This record gives sequence, structure tokens and C-alpha cells, in this order.
Amino acid sequence: MTAVFHRTSHAKLPTATFGDGCYIIDNTGKRYLDACGGAAVSCLGHSNQIVRDAMHAQLDQIAYAHTGFFTSEPTESLADLLVMHAPDGIDHAYIVSSGSEAIEAALKLARQYFLEKGESTRHRIIARRQSYHGNTLGALAAGGNAWRRKQFDPLLIEASHIAPCYAYREQDTGETEYEYGQRVANELQAEIDRLGPESVMAFVAEPVVGATLGAVPAVDGYFKRIRDICDANGILLILDEVMCGMGRTGHLFASEYDGISPDIVTIAKGLGAGYQPIGAMLCSSEIFETIANGSGFFQHGHTYLGHPMATAAAKAVVAQLTGGELIPRVQVMGDLLQSRLEERFGQHPNIGDIRGRGLFRGLELVADRGTKDPFDPSRAINKKIKAAAMENGLMCYPMGGTIDGQRGDHVLLAPPFIITEDQIGELVEKLDRAIAMALAS
Ligand code: PLP
Repeated sequence: MTAVFHRTSHAKLPTATFGDGCYIIDNTGKRYLDACGGAAVSCLGHSNQIVRDAMHAQLDQIAYAHTGFFTSEPTESLADLLVMHAPDGIDHAYIVSSGSEAIEAALKLARQYFLEKGESTRHRIIARRQSYHGNTLGALAAGGNAWRRKQFDPLLIEASHIAPCYAYREQDTGETEYEYGQRVANELQAEIDRLGPESVMAFVAEPVVGATLGAVPAVDGYFKRIRDICDANGILLILDEVMCGMGRTGHLFASEYDGISPDIVTIAKGLGAGYQPIGAMLCSSEIFETIANGSGFFQHGHTYLGHPMATAAAKAVVAQLTGGELIPRVQVMGDLLQSRLEERFGQHPNIGDIRGRGLFRGLELVADRGTKDPFDPSRAINKKIKAAAMENGLMCYPMGGTIDGQRGDHVLLAPPFIITEDQIGELVEKLDRAIAMALAS
């Protein structure tokens, strides 16, 4: 019996008791290799001494001071550090407690920016199908995953959704990857034209789509075209790097790979590495100055904005991420993980695609490699893989509805950046066993 309102009413969960590098240990002593960082969170593993020391030191000074009354040293220096390494033009950080909060802040800031700029007709959001931007109502409205939205539809603000950039399934034969990317990026212009350019406020997208597609990066050239369309129509580009940011793809900000800068970027997950709940919304000087020289007040806020314990932990995380060695390591270990996955699963009859960037990888499951037909959703292959993996001492992040919110299965991998070559071997062995068990059942 439990008094906790768990995510699912009938699941029997093990009790996490200790963290040891890439492993979580339960109260029976069983060790689980964390190959997904929970949900791409635990980038430094579960026992990082530098973060622990920073949190202890902060606790001994002050745990909390409301941001309506005070600022704090760790919040100031975390913002400095983030801005120093942020994409060009980004120069202020608004520190919240989760990814959904970061997205809510981004949407409200976009609206207030246009109001203060005298463009009050701009309020519409365009995003992409099969995206996830969080579970609070504004973030859920922006997200394009049909299953997550369906039952809350009457509560959601209006948003329109264009195609994702999902080459494995949606690139036409006879079309190059580049041409495909341009075609789907141009859907943004078509949607802006349909809505009326003066009504559109922002386009929201994940540079590498995580939970809902399974580590799908856009093809080269896609985001450059998106940036051009946003500029030509005077709308803001909001990049959601809650999952793919903070080094996960081998770049501190995932958009570095695409060679573009957003107007607003959201981060969370790896920012606190799981040591504290924290997120951030970073914006351009143009947006910040418009508010600063206008009302001087962003009409938003939460009780735990810039929480000193959270910012002290995140500062210790980001200092390690930007310290010079870890992010290059993500690229090397990410390539190694990709090649080990390809060696093991490249010819697997039920794995159609192995993709991703850095230590952010996805495997898409299919009933038939030739036709790319998915498994019948009633087989719940993704749920069975998760259960079998846990039985085998492996945490991975399988999800269903990859294709349209209903059909399709994938497994997302996002291990800690400290993962070793031997542990990648263990990951592949255990994943192979879990997939075999799920397919056999
Ligand atoms: N945006 C993206 C891309 C995410 O993957 C998530 C969570 O998975 C969120 C936003 C929401 O973050 P949170 O669960 O911290 O509210």
C-alpha cells in the first residue's frame, strides 16, 4: 500500500536508494545501469562530488530567498555562465524549476514582447507534429503529440502544427535529404501565410526531437531555412532544448550544430543533472531590451524562480560541462555508442533505424524492415521492453506512438556523459536481451 499518487496506479516500482556513477541501486541491492538518465537528466551520473559539495556549501549559507526581494550569488553566476556560452545574441536567463515552466515563460515572454513592441495582433503559435514541450497547459498546447493532447484538447490554447523533420519515414524517394528538409521547412511559410503573418508570434521546435520521436535530428539546412522564414515574417524562433541541450548532443546548445541562433531557448533536465529541479528560459538582448525599455516588468513569475540551492547545483553542473573535457567526450562516446548499436542491431529484423547525435540515440522498432510497418500498438512492445530492461538491470526510455501518437515504437538512450566503453558494452548486451524478451512475449 502507498499513499503516493504514482504515475500509474498498478505499477510495482523498486525503491531507489543509492546512486553510484552510472548506476542506481535499489533497496534490495540490485544495480540498474542508467542508460537514459531517467529522461535525459542525469548527465553527470548519480554521485557527482563537485555538485554535492556545491549544494552542501550553499545550504550552509542560505537555501532560499524570494526573487521579489533578493538576488543571490549562485543565480547571478549561473546566468553569467549560461549567457557566456549561449548562442549569439542570447544574453539574459530567466531561471525556473522545470522544462514546462521554461516553455510557459517563453510563450508568455513572446506575447509580452510583441505587445510592448506595438504588434498586439501577434499571438499565434506554430509548432510541429510529434513534438513534446511539456505537460502544463500552455506547453501541452504547443506540443504536437496527439495522444498526450487528446483528452485535454478543450483546455488547450490554439496552436497549429506542421510536419516534423523526420527523414526516416517522411523523405520521399527521389528527393535528397537537403531537398526534403527544405520542403518540410517551407511548410512553416505556408502555415504563416494561411494564418496571416501579422497574427503569428512564434515557431517552437526541438532541434533534436526527444521523447516523442526518439532522438531525431533535423537534416542539414532545415533549421537555416526555418531561421530565414522566421526573420522574413518577423516571428520569434523558440528552440526547446529542454531534453537535447546542455551537452547531450555533443554541443552545449544543440542548435550550435545547425549553425543558427534562436530568439529564445529553453533548457532544463541536464542543467541540474537531477541534483535539483531547475530549468531556464534564455532570450535575446532585443527581447530583453524591449521589455526593459518598455514596462520594465515581465508579467510572470513563480515562488521558486532562481532558487539558490538549484542554481548552486546547476552552476556546478554547467562549470563541469563547459570545463573543456566533458562535451568532447560526449561526441567520442556518442560515436562509439552509435557504432556498437549498429554492430548489434544494424541487421536486426525489427529495428528499422538507429539515429541521434552525441549521447542522445534512438532505435525505432518495426514489424517489417522493408515496409517500415510498425507493430500493432496493442502489443505494447515499448512497455514490454521497459519492463524487461528493468528486470535485467537496465534503465532505457521506450515510448510508443512514434509515427502519429498511436502507431510506432522507439527506445531512447541518453546515458550519463561519464559512461565508459565497458558500460556501453553492458548497455548493448542488456538492451538486446530486453528487446528479445519483449518480442518473444
Ligand atoms: N520540452 C521537452 C523537449 C521535453 O523533453 C520535456 C520533458 O520531457 C519538457 C519540455 C518538459 O519538461 P519538464 O518535464 O521538466 O516539465
